[in-house]
Amino acid sequence: MPHSMSKMPVIFFGHGNPMNALSRNAYSEGWRQIGKTIPRPKAVVAISAHWYIQGTAVTAMERPRTIHDFGGFPRELFEVEYPAPGDPELAIQIRELLKPIDVKLDHNWGLDHGAWSVLTHAFPQADVPIVQISIDKMKPPAFHYEVGKRLAPLRDEQVLIIGSGNLVHNLHTYAWGRHAVEPFDWAMRFEKQVRNLLLSADDGPLVNYETLGPEAELSVPTPDHYLPLLYVIALRREGEHLSFPVEGIDGGSVSMLTIRIG
Ligand code: ZN
Repeated sequence: MPHSMSKMPVIFFGHGNPMNALSRNAYSEGWRQIGKTIPRPKAVVAISAHWYIQGTAVTAMERPRTIHDFGGFPRELFEVEYPAPGDPELAIQIRELLKPIDVKLDHNWGLDHGAWSVLTHAFPQADVPIVQISIDKMKPPAFHYEVGKRLAPLRDEQVLIIGSGNLVHNLHTYAWGRHAVEPFDWAMRFEKQVRNLLLSADDGPLVNYETLGPEAELSVPTPDHYLPLLYVIALRREGEHLSFPVEGIDGGSVSMLTIRIG
């Protein structure tokens, strides 16, 4: 039987510099367009690079706080509040879906900037409930891909699943100044390689990204900003359309690529 409601897309956002939360630029405008053009979600499940901890947890509070998990930015960024509600019932449903993985219902975290810097543009009214799932830093990449697969039923329940990270994220080489810089060759090559693998739906090398050579080592010096991608690609269904609604490499070494599936 066909579903009467269209299923939700799945989206990987390259969030980049936290200041994108306040900026009106090509990235934030692209995120706004996505919010305007997709079916309205019942809730958002976000896997953010910035909740990278020991263990798998899901936020289960009614009112998640806005976490300003960064330093050295202007006061106005610390004053941003994104008062979207939580969804404790969805948190419990996720805990069931992920069994036998031990999932903690969390009441301490909230919304980190990986989630709200993007969602404040996609859903500026802050009226879509949001649940975050942590990334267990003790687990190998294949574990994260598997967790993503288990979230699949939520797509048929009008839940929007998003990953938020950056598939190239090297802050040692990132130009923090305002001047525009050319992307590093290795950053462009790795992003191109990932795009090609995505377009050919070849998930194996994307999961085993550590085998992709020196470009991967420079582009993914730590796993946190890359791993949200694996949750997203795990949710792609046979023959589903894939597109890149936002593109660009910021500061030489942060890929802002957004990947939309479905
Ligand atoms: Zn980040």
